[in-house]
Amino acid sequence: MNIIVTGGAGFIGSALIRFLIENTENNVVNIDKLTYASNLKSLETVEGKARYSFVQGDICDGALLGRIFESFKPDAIMHLAAESHVDKSINASADFIQTNIIGSYQLLEVSRIYWENLEGDKKGCFRFHHISTDEVYGELGESGKFSETSRYQPSSPYSASKASSDHLVNAWYKTYGLPIVITNCSNNYGPYQFPEKLIPLTILNALNGKSLPVYGKGEQIRDWLYVDDHVKALYLVLTKGSLGETYNIGGNQEKMNIDVVNLICDLLEEIAPIKPEGVKRYRDLIEYVEDRPGHDFRYAIDASKISSVLAWKPEEDFESGLRKTVQWFIDNKHICAV
Ligand code: NAD
Repeated sequence: MNIIVTGGAGFIGSALIRFLIENTENNVVNIDKLTYASNLKSLETVEGKARYSFVQGDICDGALLGRIFESFKPDAIMHLAAESHVDKSINASADFIQTNIIGSYQLLEVSRIYWENLEGDKKGCFRFHHISTDEVYGELGESGKFSETSRYQPSSPYSASKASSDHLVNAWYKTYGLPIVITNCSNNYGPYQFPEKLIPLTILNALNGKSLPVYGKGEQIRDWLYVDDHVKALYLVLTKGSLGETYNIGGNQEKMNIDVVNLICDLLEEIAPIKPEGVKRYRDLIEYVEDRPGHDFRYAIDASKISSVLAWKPEEDFESGLRKTVQWFIDNKHICAV
């Protein structure tokens, strides 16, 4: 296949491209604007490979997208480009509306026009895959899990913009027949994640002897998935998923934020016992800060559809994935801005 990946210089997109180049025979074009959240070092192992190419560009630029479609003739689009940080969406929502909604719309329209002009197998096999989040479903109380039929109740500008793009993708399927699949995944973690997110921020701050901010009492619960497990699920859905379907992806690894931070501190005590000057215990760096407005209490994913229909299951549990991640950031802290 010829696959266009948008947002391939980001955390999940780069893991996906490394997987596609190292484990499949597909050709990949990566379209990425290179915002502050991107990191081209994450693609060093695939740069120079004949099956990989990179275009710096904005998914809101329909003319550019049209030219790339015309020359690359994609069989599939895996759409990950997005503004992805909830805190940033609260303070500066405009980029979220622009990229996540307008950019997704541009990509859908260019895909629709391209797909309508295809013929035979090339038309029948085409796929538009939207990579989305469980945050579109809003928050859960103490019990229950999100399924593919849960109501959309997004809380933040980020999750509302992703909910909007999910709706647009579904509308392009129902109205125009564009062959789409959607995946909604829980919180990811792993190598190259930008250190504005809880896990890399905590690891790098601790290694630098800086405070470890925890919102409110740290009691919010997230369901964590190691990024490489997400990537394998994405490829399975792209190649084996049914048209027009949504698949929820999650690792069934619910953790309270404060427990995540404590676990990182404990791993660092073991793996990096020599601490920055003045730090006795990594846990001493924890600082409770004012809670985020509209902070969802709990997310949890029911991943039984993808596991029963497509036989997917994660390989890492939270402890094994976190250990790998902490070790990776210790070894690579020089290439991750903080
Ligand atoms: P990220 O912020 O690390 O990367 C996003 C990438 O998109 C960056 O490389 C950035 O340069 C690029 N980009 C942003 N605006 C663009 C534009 N207008 N045109 C072209 N490229 C643009 O994000 P991530 O964590 O890798 O998330 C990828 C996708 O997966 C997002 O759509 C996100 O909503 C979704 N998702 C993320 C998580 C998670 O836990 N990180 C969970 C579920 C779903």
